[in-house]
Amino acid sequence: ARKPLIAGNWKMHGSRAHTASFADAVAAQPLPDGIDALICPPFVHLADLVARLAGTGVQVGGQNVCDKGGPGAYTGEVSAGMLADCGATHAIVGHSERRALYGEDDDVVSEKFALARDAGLVPVLCVGETLAEREADQTENVLRRQLGTVLGDHGVAAFADVVLAYEPVWAIGTGHTATPAQAQAVHAFLRAQIAAEDATIASALRIVYGGSVKPDNAADLLACEDVDGGLVGGASLEADSFLALCRAN
Ligand code: 13P
Repeated sequence: ARKPLIAGNWKMHGSRAHTASFADAVAAQPLPDGIDALICPPFVHLADLVARLAGTGVQVGGQNVCDKGGPGAYTGEVSAGMLADCGATHAIVGHSERRALYGEDDDVVSEKFALARDAGLVPVLCVGETLAEREADQTENVLRRQLGTVLGDHGVAAFADVVLAYEPVWAIGTGHTATPAQAQAVHAFLRAQIAAEDATIASALRIVYGGSVKPDNAADLLACEDVDGGLVGGASLEADSFLALCRAN
């Protein structure tokens, strides 16, 4: 039995006031037992959120890490080590918005995955196909390539304490949530890729689904055998909605 993870990705949303009110609301309601909860805020709010969520059980992660370990002359970047120093426990790597809008290819994502692990962070490695790729029947090929690069570079042992996130690009921010059957099929495929190399690591690996997860569809997704939680954008911004997701299991 894998413990579900409900992870919020705030993307470029929020403010100091939002951070404070979110944390106050979370602190006022105990987190349900049997799940892990994580929020990935913008970097500028990360240390504040860590301090405000102390004692709530909700962990805090980065949305990205620099592809250089540093420290060094990398203006505008934040290293995995800096995130860990500020109290982050996780870091998202390879989100489709980073891939599509900031040119991150599989090799860069693979490097970020390793740097996050080296810094003691749990990488939340995102993979997922576009609508065009799905319609062209390329979903498994795309996922095999995205996951295969990281597996090939770092080996299956590197997946012992990581989170894999399946985020179909066509489902992100669109309201077109994958059906539980679609999510389950891909999650089982991803787990099989890992199992081909190490069955024990595969069966312990948490694979979370992202893409228009809402309080009213989360329970059906989480009920799937291979869906071990959610990576949630819009519905993680308000504390009531995030807490409802945490109770959906
Ligand atoms: P939405 O939940 O807003 O569709 O975003 C999903 C996502 O990209 C989380 O990383």
